[in-house]
Order: sequence, then structure tokens, then C-alpha cells
Amino acid sequence: MLATLTATSSALEARLALTWAVEAIGSIGDRLQGIALDLDFDVGALTALIASSDVRELRKCVLGGRALDETGRLLAESHDEIGYIALSDELMMAQSEFRRLAADVVAPQALAIHRDDLLVPEELLRPLRDMGVFGLSIPEQFGGSAPNDRDDNLMMIVVTEALSEASLAAAGSLITRPEILSRALLTGGTATQKSYWLPRIACGDPLCAIAITEPDFGSDVAGLQFKGTRTAGGWLLDGAKTWCTFAGKAGVIMAVTRTAADRSLGHRGLSILLVEKPSYEGQAFEYRQTGGGRLSGKAIPTLGYRGMHSFDLSFENFFVPDANVVGGEEGLGEGFYFTMAGMMGGRLQTAARASGVMRAALLAALRYAADRRVFNAPLAHYALTRAKLARMAARFVACRQLTYAVGRLLDQGGGRMEASLIKLFACRSAEWITREALQIHGGIGYAEESPISRYFVDARVLSIFEGAEETLALKVISRSLFELALKSAERRGDL
Ligand SMILES: Cc1cc2nc3c(=O)[nH]c(=O)nc-3n(C[C@H](O)[C@H](O)[C@H](O)COP(=O)(O)OP(=O)(O)OC[C@H]3O[C@@H](n4cnc5c(N)ncnc54)[C@H](O)[C@@H]3O)c2cc1C
Repeated sequence: MLATLTATSSALEARLALTWAVEAIGSIGDRLQGIALDLDFDVGALTALIASSDVRELRKCVLGGRALDETGRLLAESHDEIGYIALSDELMMAQSEFRRLAADVVAPQALAIHRDDLLVPEELLRPLRDMGVFGLSIPEQFGGSAPNDRDDNLMMIVVTEALSEASLAAAGSLITRPEILSRALLTGGTATQKSYWLPRIACGDPLCAIAITEPDFGSDVAGLQFKGTRTAGGWLLDGAKTWCTFAGKAGVIMAVTRTAADRSLGHRGLSILLVEKPSYEGQAFEYRQTGGGRLSGKAIPTLGYRGMHSFDLSFENFFVPDANVVGGEEGLGEGFYFTMAGMMGGRLQTAARASGVMRAALLAALRYAADRRVFNAPLAHYALTRAKLARMAARFVACRQLTYAVGRLLDQGGGRMEASLIKLFACRSAEWITREALQIHGGIGYAEESPISRYFVDARVLSIFEGAEETLALKVISRSLFELALKSAERRGDL
């Protein structure tokens, strides 16, 4: 099997693909056996398959001590891109330009931003604006860089990955907010709103923030309570939002608001209102409107993910004109759907963010294992380290390949469930890979001064936002799989 894969890819890539595939067979087998217990299914055939001599031989050839050692050795000696993706010339060029920008401009500032809990500085935002980072999902006709006739998720992935490698919070995640808002506007905005807002968002002026989460409602978006009350010429907002990242610096906040008085409407009572405000630098702000409205914000201290600050927000009688209701009168009650359209891109983008963090951690671990000597030999000399590196690389390659594959699917109009699936898998993998990379670094990995400790704390947040992993698993992925299964049963005439 190794020989067959080697014919189309490098020997190392083939080994890494097999390593992940065979690990996946093992964990899927375990999961299915657990599920079967609940459903009273007979698992005899599955157990027999897993215990068969073919599967055991495959496991030994790929996951046995000697096999992993060899994969780790090849990895440690390789200078090739790990998880190679065949990209067009345009994407290759973007990748190398953004990797250079990340290394030259972002990386030198990333440590100070993290340790001193600073806001992303203008010296970093300026080149990102110049390179069009905020308009990646916005069609050219509205001032962005995406084609007018289709999505261009691959460009978004390439740029996000490159920037997240240098800093998740101070670079890669800057793209998430315009990604969500511009997709929501493209889905539901009026022609006037698209031509007014999209060119501005594309050039990063104003910067934007997304306010969905509330103190009592996070995963349960349909239950949001943040209230909008109709007044002459617009809406008055009252209530609290929380975890609104970049709310201080942003000039516009996408606020998901309950505009219907009838609470029984659930998700059909939500609308998106665009809150305009001045941009503030600090960790707290207060904005008073001339008509008496008030918006205040205070940053929540966090473990990591520092650079944009995530705010608790309080609104009192805050006026938003009718023109800022996404979709106008017809957009009232449609906010949940517009938000979900935005989140679809946001989830794939988050998988790409995870991929960037994983790449940074893996490369740091490989470098450290080559340099650090223990018991008179480099760490990379030991079978245990090589096995660890092999498994980390295999997981990274799987996440990376799947992220790009889902990007292609979305570009072709499909891939909605898959975007949630790869978000869940890549974010969980980033936690594990950064943990293993930190472990390889020993004590220095735990020091704040080493980038690896930042990768570790930053990776932890990925499974919480953009759809917490339990919510994605229960409400999005399993429901979609169930619907697919029902449809195919209907087609077969089994129902
Ligand atoms: C650093 C950071 C930045 C953020 N930025 C933003 C932002 O810019 N804008 C924004 O709107 N939000 C933002 N968020 C908020 C984030 O999206 C929410 O934290 C997330 O949606 C989860 O909501 P919650 O915290 O209220 O958790 P809850 O909804 O209270 O859930 C708690 C836990 O229970 C799990 N859970 C949920 N349902 C079930 C179930 N049925 N069975 C079992 N377990 C379940 C959840 O997955 C979670 O692990 C940010 C969060 C963080 C930490």
C-alpha cells in the first residue's frame, strides 16, 4: 500500500497519510463499538474486521514502533513542505507573500502583543489593509478581491493560514470578522447596503466586530434576548452582549438583535443591526450619542488570544437608523439566517486558523527536537520523539488537506456540513498538536517568552468560538448526517 501511495506523492506524505488513516480506523472502530452498545446493534462483524490479520498487519506496518520511528526520521530529515497542497500560481504567490509578511511584520510583534496584552498596532494593520486582507470574501465589484461570479475560499484559507502561523490573535483572526459580516451582507443586504458597506469593509475602514453572544445565551443563538424597540426612523437597543472581540477598535458592530416583540418566534424574531461607533484604543470605552443613547465596553481578561480584546458590551437606548437593518424591512426576522451564512465562512476560516497554529507548533517542535540534546544526543534521535512527531505531522496533514478540500467544496456550492466538521476536527487537533509541541520543548515550552506557550493557550480557544464543538457535533453535523441518511433511505424505498 505504501508503494502505491508513493507513486503519486512523496514517500513521506504517503506515510503521513497512512499514519492518520490507520489511526482513524482504530478510533472510528472504538466509537462505533460504543455507539452500537447503546443501539443494541450486533458488532460481531466490526470486531472481527478490526481483529482480522489484514487490519492487524496494516496497523503494524504503519503504527508499529519501527514504522513510526522511520516516519519520524524521514520527517526530521525532510526540507519539503509538510502537507503539500497543489495550488495555482496565483495562490502560491499569495502564500509566499503572506508568509513573508507574517515573518517580517507580524512575528516580531506577536510576543509583545501577547505578553503585554496590547491591541494590534496600526503598523501591523496598515500593511494588512494594503494587501487586501479585509476584502478576501468580498467580490471585486464591491472593492474586494474575490471573483464576482463565485466564492474564492482557497485564497481566504491560504492567507489565514499564513497569518495565523505568526499570530492567531493579532493577525489570522483579523480576517474572521469581515468574513462573517461581508457574507451576511452578501446574503441579506439590500443593494444600497452592499454598495455602501462592502467597499468600506474591504479596505478595513471601518474595522468590524460581531456581537452575537450574550451573558445568558451563547450556543443557543435562537434564544438571544438582546432587544431592539422600534422608534421614529430606527431602533433603540437595550441590553448586554458579551465576548465581542475587537469591539473597542471597530467602527461597526454587527449586532444580532431581537426585533420581534413576540418571543415565541424564536430564531425568526432576530435581525442584524449595524451599530456605528467611534474607534477606541483602550480596554474600556464609553460612547454617548447626542440623542442620549449609550454604549459602553470593557475588555475581559483572557488566558490567551490577545491582540483584539474581547468585550462585555452594555447598550442603553442606543439608536440605530432603519438604514442599518440588514436587508431593510424585509430583513426583519431574517437575522438568524444571515448570521448562519456568515458563520459558514467563519467556520472554514477557523479551520484555516487552526491549521496555521498547528504548522507553527509542528515546525517549532521539529526545530527544537533537532537542536536540543538530552543524554548526549539530539531529541530527534530518540524513537519516542520521532513517533510523537510522526503522529503530530500526520494529524496536521489530514487537517490541512481536509480544510482545502472543504474550501473547494464550498466554492462549488456544497460543503456546509463539512465546514462544521473540519472546524471541529482541526480545532481539536490544534489543541493536541500544540500540547505535544510544548511537551517536546520541556520546561522552556512553559515559559512565556517561548512562542510555543502562546500557541498552546491560543489553540485552546478555537474549539469554543465559531460554534463550540459540542454544538457543532449535536446541532449541525449529526443533524445533517441524519437528514442525509433519511433521504437516502427514502430513495432506496426503505421508509
Ligand atoms: C476569546 C473569545 C472570543 C470570542 N469572540 C466572540 C465574538 O467576537 N462574538 C461573539 O458573538 N461571540 C464571541 N465569543 C463567544 C463564543 O462564541 C461563545 O463562548 C460560544 O458560542 C459558547 O457560548 P457560551 O460561552 O455561552 O457557552 P454555553 O452556550 O453556555 O455552553 C457551555 C458549554 O456547553 C456546551 N454545550 C452546549 N450545548 C450543549 C448540549 N446540548 N449538550 C452538551 N453540551 C452542550 C458548549 O459547547 C460549551 O462547551 C468569543 C469567545 C471567546 C472565549
